[in-house]
Amino acid sequence: MTSETMKAVVLHGKERVVLENVYIGEPAKGEVRIKIERALTCGTDVKVYRRGEHARMIRPPALFGHEFAGIVDAVGTGVSHWKVGDRVVVANSAPCDECYYCSIGREELCENLLFFNGAFAEKAIVPSRIVSKNMLAVDAGTPLESAAMCEPLACVVRGLEVAPVAAGQSVVVLGLGPIGLMFVRMCVIAGCTVIAVGRREARLRLAYEFGAVDTINVDECIDIVERVRSQTPCGRGADTVIEAIGSPAAWSDAISIVRKGGMVNLFGGCASGTTISIDTSRLHYDEVTLRSSFHHTPRSFQKALQLLSSLEVDAQRFITTRITLNEIPDTLARLAAGQLDIVKASVLM
Ligand SMILES: [Zn+2]
Ligand SMILES: [Zn+2]
Repeated sequence: MTSETMKAVVLHGKERVVLENVYIGEPAKGEVRIKIERALTCGTDVKVYRRGEHARMIRPPALFGHEFAGIVDAVGTGVSHWKVGDRVVVANSAPCDECYYCSIGREELCENLLFFNGAFAEKAIVPSRIVSKNMLAVDAGTPLESAAMCEPLACVVRGLEVAPVAAGQSVVVLGLGPIGLMFVRMCVIAGCTVIAVGRREARLRLAYEFGAVDTINVDECIDIVERVRSQTPCGRGADTVIEAIGSPAAWSDAISIVRKGGMVNLFGGCASGTTISIDTSRLHYDEVTLRSSFHHTPRSFQKALQLLSSLEVDAQRFITTRITLNEIPDTLARLAAGQLDIVKASVLM
């Protein structure tokens, strides 16, 4: 057995990430080793960088980053589906298939969801459960850099399963980070009339290019709810409102913007312990439906890769900068300080 070291970004705690040489061994039974070709930065990475951990996903010290694609470099015993040289994208989790929630088809709520981190590294040993349940082959026509966007898109696909939209509907998307922009694109593909609400001009322009009919800059509004509602058909509110910010204030705005009988997709996760209050008449007399979704499932991960491979969602449009592994600590620090405006940074190993 040979052993070696690789360069990898390690999370040590709050605002402490270091590029280090770490040991990388051979894959054990059921595992696969990947030579990572491309990784992408994500809003969750910045959140974890600020907090130093994520209760469910990552606890320091730990390898960092979770969106990546690469080439199989070695396979452990018992792995028959994969061989050296295969191009793959790897999800950052896999369900257990044994608990109550897996048995009712709600794998995103799995009691034993296994999370994986380590995208910001030269190589990764993928755990056997992810190898068998949530690792997909990438066809030769799809750049691995594009395939690396599969995980966040899978969350968006899942969000639209939970709160479906239909052709002809008016949809408001609040928040134009990568996730909000993916929702804009997906709703346009579905045939919806999309109003995109954000802050930065470059993001609003991108939403427009993705097919949003209207873009609204929150910084130019005195009353965002009134302003957005006035743009919806007859001013009655949107059929569906998707909240992709993750703040209690935005959750409240989303519930105020939807029309009677409409649906709100509270997609953005707020800090734990936060609450909102809801006008009960909105739920009862106005029959507003509230939905929410977390994470992704193996099925939504598969669908996301199809969308990327067919270019219905063109990942290249989301990648606004390219950096090297060495630049990760500085990039995270600047993103956390609000000094950088990046939709997705692609990381070259
Ligand atoms: Zn992500
Ligand atoms: Zn389970």
